Amino acid sequence: MEKTPFKAESQRLLDMMIHSIYSHKEIFLRELISNASDAIDKIYYKALTDDTLAFDKDNYYIQVMADKENRTLAVLDTGIGMTKEELEDNLGVIAQSGSLAFKRDNEVEDEHGIIGQFGVGFYSAFMVADVVTVITRALGSDTAYKWESAGVDGYTIEPVDKETVGTEIILKIKENTEDEHYDEYLDEYRLRSIIKKYSDFIRYPIKMEVTRQ
Ligand code: ADP
Ligand code: MG
Repeated sequence: MEKTPFKAESQRLLDMMIHSIYSHKEIFLRELISNASDAIDKIYYKALTDDTLAFDKDNYYIQVMADKENRTLAVLDTGIGMTKEELEDNLGVIAQSGSLAFKRDNEVEDEHGIIGQFGVGFYSAFMVADVVTVITRALGSDTAYKWESAGVDGYTIEPVDKETVGTEIILKIKENTEDEHYDEYLDEYRLRSIIKKYSDFIRYPIKMEVTRQ
């Protein structure tokens, strides 16, 4: 008998993902930093087989930037970036992992390499942010794009200017509620301790910049 594939209600799925998959909100930072590290690793792997690409370790890093006045937390990387199509495929399709596809296509076997596989970690950003903005320019592309979403009702993509290859993820941190002090995700020492707890093994330098009011 012919099988009927399951359908999914994507808005409810996203809602579930944001609110039930993770027990601790703080892990969103681990997810964004692991994606940043994966993006740098992809340049590293490409450089192994492409003579026109040099991988000078000093040029690759991750930066976490908190701006208390504007309530934004940004995670920037100098990794491989995303084309418009990759933005649509990887951030527009829940449970689609560009990193898993990359490992398969490039026969990456290194166990200490690329972390991503499930294609859901990115959305954990919505646990602490009202709006998530991704500004990205792919390796080998002159055009950069801005992806933006407030969660359940979808996303927009438009061209923007970006000088360098890589990705910047900007979270508009939620206002405090009675139960939840989202302010802590703008605090330098809190951020440092989350990074130490979950991202100590990351192979690229993680820089930190905090702008007070
Ligand atoms: P996973 O990491 O398990 O693949 P995520 O939901 O964390 O799932 O991310 C989905 C995909 O989005 C990644 O596989 C990758 O292709 C893309 N992506 C996310 N963040 C970045 C980034 N900083 N740079 C480049 N690509 C990214
Ligand atoms: Mg991930």
